[in-house]
Amino acid sequence: KNRINILGTEFDNFTEKQFQKYLSDDMDARSNKFIVTANPEMVLSAQKNPKFSKVINSADYVIPDGIGIIKGAKTLGTPMHERITGFDTLMYLIKTANRKQLKVYLLGAKEEVIKASAKRIEREYPQIDLVGYHDGYFKDNQIVIDEIVQKKPNVILVALGYPKQEFFIDEYRKNIDAIWIGVGGSFDVFSG
Ligand code: UDP
Repeated sequence: KNRINILGTEFDNFTEKQFQKYLSDDMDARSNKFIVTANPEMVLSAQKNPKFSKVINSADYVIPDGIGIIKGAKTLGTPMHERITGFDTLMYLIKTANRKQLKVYLLGAKEEVIKASAKRIEREYPQIDLVGYHDGYFKDNQIVIDEIVQKKPNVILVALGYPKQEFFIDEYRKNIDAIWIGVGGSFDVFSG
């Protein structure tokens, strides 16, 4: 695998087009995949938190979310293809899930934000089977993960902020084969 190390975080080095092709194939194959969209803040946080670093580097895809990563890679003499943002990846997954008529689950953000995001998906992406959603302010992980597993989503969008979302995905992805991604504050934007 072609990975580039920036201060301990191992980034995939591919174009956005190549990445999207992998994701499309993963969705068709119903694979279990974990995508980390890592920005400079996360790289610095991982540098100080070995557990977080280990979780990031064990993901299937680690993508450079931020021009700071691209500039850093160039400065270190290991240039990367291009920036791939978490938000664009979220939009690609939603559009592709719509095209492929997949089941999607939304987890995280404030109640009104996730509700508005669900409404937008139902309105603009009617071929998605939106099997459920839950805000990101829960105490009992087990109740939430039981619900997710029962609904059998193919794509699970997790917005709990870092490092919480990555720890959550790392712990529970074994419970169901799906495309898992931590999307940070993206629903706050997506919800409009
Ligand atoms: N969030 C959540 N539960 C938490 C903490 C945060 O659902 O316990 C949500 C928050 O509402 C926001 C998202 O996580 O929608 C990302 O938060 P932030 O912008 O602080 O993180 P980043 O985008 O830097 O990962």
